[in-house]
Amino acid sequence: MEKDDLASGTSSKSSKLIHGGLRYLEHAQFKLVFEGTNERALLLKRAPHLVRPLPFLVPAYKQSRPGLYKLDVGLWIYDGLSRFSSPKLHKTYRTAKIHELEPLLRTEDLKGGIVYYDCLTDDARITLENALDARALRAVVLNWTRVTSLTRDGGRVIGAEVEDCEPGQGAGGKRIAVRAKVVVNATGPWSDKVRAFVGESPILRPTKGVHLVIDERRLKIAHAVVMQGRSDQRVMFAIPWGGGRTVIGTTDTDFQGDLDRVYATPDDAAYLLETANHYFPTAALGKADVLATWAGLRPLVAPSAGLRSESDTSREHHVIDRPGFITIAGGKLTTFRRMAAEVVDRVGQQLGKIPVSTTGERPLPGSVGIEGDADLERIAARLVEKGLDVAAAHHLAFTFGARAETVAGRIADDASAGLRIDPEQPFLAAEVDEAVEHEFARTLTDVLGRRMPLILRGRDQGLAAAPAVAERIARRLGWTADRIRDELDRYAATVEDTRRFR
Ligand SMILES: Cc1cc2nc3c(=O)[nH]c(=O)nc-3n(C[C@H](O)[C@H](O)[C@H](O)COP(=O)(O)OP(=O)(O)OC[C@H]3O[C@@H](n4cnc5c(N)ncnc54)[C@H](O)[C@@H]3O)c2cc1C
Repeated sequence: MEKDDLASGTSSKSSKLIHGGLRYLEHAQFKLVFEGTNERALLLKRAPHLVRPLPFLVPAYKQSRPGLYKLDVGLWIYDGLSRFSSPKLHKTYRTAKIHELEPLLRTEDLKGGIVYYDCLTDDARITLENALDARALRAVVLNWTRVTSLTRDGGRVIGAEVEDCEPGQGAGGKRIAVRAKVVVNATGPWSDKVRAFVGESPILRPTKGVHLVIDERRLKIAHAVVMQGRSDQRVMFAIPWGGGRTVIGTTDTDFQGDLDRVYATPDDAAYLLETANHYFPTAALGKADVLATWAGLRPLVAPSAGLRSESDTSREHHVIDRPGFITIAGGKLTTFRRMAAEVVDRVGQQLGKIPVSTTGERPLPGSVGIEGDADLERIAARLVEKGLDVAAAHHLAFTFGARAETVAGRIADDASAGLRIDPEQPFLAAEVDEAVEHEFARTLTDVLGRRMPLILRGRDQGLAAAPAVAERIARRLGWTADRIRDELDRYAATVEDTRRFR
């Protein structure tokens, strides 16, 4: 059950990396790195269309800490903890080679650097594929359905009051009571709000993280470049995002505001641009170069919650068990499968015997029958044979994987489904139809914000395409002219929030 769209919270606002977290080695958090790198290996096999290897370059300058030697040792440990399952082993290079690999990188005091591998994903889509898989296994998946209170019998939680909160329904949606043997609270930054329904104490200390999207013509890089914040030495990245875009992120600041309205401020943008401009001096990026931003909250468990032994701000997850009510908070996108398995085991302990989890072997819906890149390239080639242009065919294959031909099949029935909805990006109208008919999308922002994220990738953030996309959705969902207008207004307001840094 999800009060908004699937992945509308933090899970579409991450750095989109499937990684072990090299920097956790500094705090000797070997377990976290072991789990992350091993999940990375598993996801590379179980979802190859959505989890793609990405080379990272760590430049080493005279004043860099750790220096090149220590970094090399650290990366041997990183590769070792992954049981050498990294897409490629790391390699150390001298200054001249680093300059050749990333010509825009500052060369003053550059001593060399290291290239290692992690992965890039589409966080919203990998979340969605899990929901599609759950539905295929007969789970009832509901978005736009909010838990408004929990029901109790004595000390035990026995269900919840839920409300249909899809926008555009006038005076509030239908409310029903749901009974459950166990309720799992997996609401990320909202965990404390749900815990408060039954008087449980707060456990979170959320922090905000912001990313900036830049046209790659302003900053073209071939590797994710690891940078250290100018003012605080924090690790951040410049990431080649494909589709002509480069991403810079992230920040990490305490957050006390409205959990439902998180956006990048002028200070956030200035902080990220200062560091990017130090590492890439000739780029001379300014706020006018920022095409889009996204901001999300890390659902970190506060040290004061008394649930941890160490006092650092660990990314570890926590599971808190009460009769009929289990909260899971913290952790990373990368380890979602392990976290879910742990929760299901805890549910099993309360319910009695449950079947053994198969998520370690079970492919996600888009990777059924897909072994790797060769299969995805074959799908793309078949789509080209059927008349799609190469960019669109490649985009469909590496977004939908095994489902790409079904999505493209919509064009045979309706030629308008083959039209692009943005002049620069390869998204097709067929994806709008797929989103509303098969992928749970209920609003314009569900479609343009997450299923085909023009809000982040489009030069105008999808504003020009929005009316035609809304009309297309309206034909499928039976929207009135008023609802179309509301949807367009809500989308424009969402875009406006991403521009508040200006
Ligand atoms: C800036 C940033 C960068 C990150 N980068 C990475 C990265 O590169 N790699 C990585 O592995 N991890 C990364 N993370 C961490 C990762 O994104 C999060 O740990 C993960 O997405 C959290 O998922 P979640 O399901 O706990 O929370 P969410 O994704 O926020 O999901 C919780 C959902 O609960 C819903 N909800 C809330 N209240 C209710 C209610 N009453 N009824 C029904 N539904 C409700 C919300 O609408 C929300 O969608 C990053 C996090 C941030 C903030």
